[in-house]
Amino acid sequence: MTFTVKCFCGAVVQTDDEESLIAQVSDHASSVHDMDLSREDILAMANNAES
Ligand SMILES: [Zn+2]
Repeated sequence: MTFTVKCFCGAVVQTDDEESLIAQVSDHASSVHDMDLSREDILAMANNAES
């Protein structure tokens, strides 16, 4: 399963596992936007792109 999160700034994070998705998105949000996203927030933003 592939998880894709597209940030409102246009950055895209795509991984094939949930833990690294959360790590990467949370790192992006805190370093770029100074935002603290919860796991639930990140999963709510994620589209499961199955191909
Ligand atoms: Zn962003």
